Amino acid sequence: MPQQKAVIIGAGIAGIAAAIRLAVKGYSVEVFEANSYPGGKLSEIELNGYRFDAGPSLLTMPQYIDELFTLAGKIPANYFKYQKLDVVCKYFYPDGTKLNAYADTKKFAEEINTQTGEPAASVVNYLANSRDIYSITNHVFLERSLHRLQTYMRWDTLRSIFRFPQIDPFRTMHKANSKSFKDKRVVQLFDRYATYNGSNPYQAPATLNVIPHLEHHFGAYFPKGGMYSVTQSLVKLAEELGVKFHYNTNVDEIVLEGIKVKGIKTKAELIAADIVIPNMDIWFTYKKLLKNHPQLHPQKTLGQERSSSALIFYWGIKKNFHQLDLHNIFFSADYKSEFDHIWQQHGIYHDPTVYINISSKYKQDDAPAGCENWFVMINVPANNGQDWDKLIAGARKNIQQKLSGILGGDITPLIACETILDPRSIETKTSSYKGSIYGTSSNNQFAAFLRHANRSSKVEGLYFCGGSVHPGGGIPLCLLSAKIVADLTPTPPPFFAEK
Ligand code: FAD
Repeated sequence: MPQQKAVIIGAGIAGIAAAIRLAVKGYSVEVFEANSYPGGKLSEIELNGYRFDAGPSLLTMPQYIDELFTLAGKIPANYFKYQKLDVVCKYFYPDGTKLNAYADTKKFAEEINTQTGEPAASVVNYLANSRDIYSITNHVFLERSLHRLQTYMRWDTLRSIFRFPQIDPFRTMHKANSKSFKDKRVVQLFDRYATYNGSNPYQAPATLNVIPHLEHHFGAYFPKGGMYSVTQSLVKLAEELGVKFHYNTNVDEIVLEGIKVKGIKTKAELIAADIVIPNMDIWFTYKKLLKNHPQLHPQKTLGQERSSSALIFYWGIKKNFHQLDLHNIFFSADYKSEFDHIWQQHGIYHDPTVYINISSKYKQDDAPAGCENWFVMINVPANNGQDWDKLIAGARKNIQQKLSGILGGDITPLIACETILDPRSIETKTSSYKGSIYGTSSNNQFAAFLRHANRSSKVEGLYFCGGSVHPGGGIPLCLLSAKIVADLTPTPPPFFAEK
């Protein structure tokens, strides 16, 4: 009997992880990627002697990466090294307040107390609540398929269902945070976590207040080779396991025979497969690759609100800023107006919250001596045909003015080079519908249940992984989507290569 074959469409982080898991499970695996490089959003940019991680900059839950090496019988540290951060993020407020978000809960609570007067106990209690939400949701909502009966027949699922009110799904994040803290700056700090999956804290359920637990319990990390080394090390492992990557190969169609998957079609050929796993945005999977099968399209899922997008200026900066760290946030004076602009007016607020990531703080060869590589990002709406060139020009001016004011000198002449990523280019470079970076938004309490399943209930042999399906976007959840897919796929019969 020939070896069972799995085809994966897209070499995003979930696609690579799924490839590894299925190769270990005994499949012959081929990955088809439209770009000339792997990683999708998790890629890198080189510009005039500066190196930038193109997308993700914050690494949490690296154990899910290690797990892939261990699964393949390898020692993780031989492939992928990372270090834990003592300060997760530096916060700068318009009133001049500066605050270090220490990973250690006690230190963090004391720092908040010193800088804002908010009782340290409020922070400690808040993070304990965050931990409780994690313990209720973790196994049920994140690590398993929500779309198969077995999940609901387990004792821990039933226990979680009984504790459902404790995950606080009926208040918004902002409402819950305003109840937990007196100081507006602290509320703003914790509201910010809604942006970790492209949502709005004034709409998203307080269940998302689970996110700080990940940073302050499991920690935040810096990969020694930069974020792109996550992609590089996993591709290396996949190749060692025999996975074949086909770059510059756009998949045009998923080929079906009745209700069974037959393979995929590229411009050049038809490739037969026993199972097919799109890692690409679920919207394009249906609208492009299954366009001849409209009866299969899950209209409700595809019609959901998209997550926000991002505008990033990659700036080579001819100076060292000692007051900055790896992750830095410069808050807006009016967070509510900022989110109203993104979500109601679909534009960019004149005073956006600015995030600066500087990987050269930890990896010096990312910038020439005496210089820094600034990844300057603001949250922006998904692409609905706005006049982006005009919006970008306005945002650049406002960001430069804001940073110059806070950092004590005009930064504009320090910018040696620039390149930009915006919702349009996110869409074209990674095939993410409307340039949304996390698939659909989590702006309502049912969002977790409405994300697309990891297995098709209508087509045998069709599975889905990646940030636009269950359990959601961000590197850790993408890696979990690959794990769920591998658990759902049948174990192929033993295969012995012919001599
Ligand atoms: P994607 O990265 O979406 O890749 C999909 C791949 O499929 C692409 O390479 C695409 O070319 C390919 N493809 C699509 N269609 C086809 C086709 N028809 N044929 C062949 N190939 C196809 N996450 C974090 O954890 N921490 C962060 O700090 C963070 N920050 C972010 C900042 C930015 C600016 C962005 C954009 C994202 C950020 N994220 C972050 C989110 C994270 O990057 C994503 O959730 C994750 O990388 C998505 O991975 P994926 O597996 O869904 O695949």
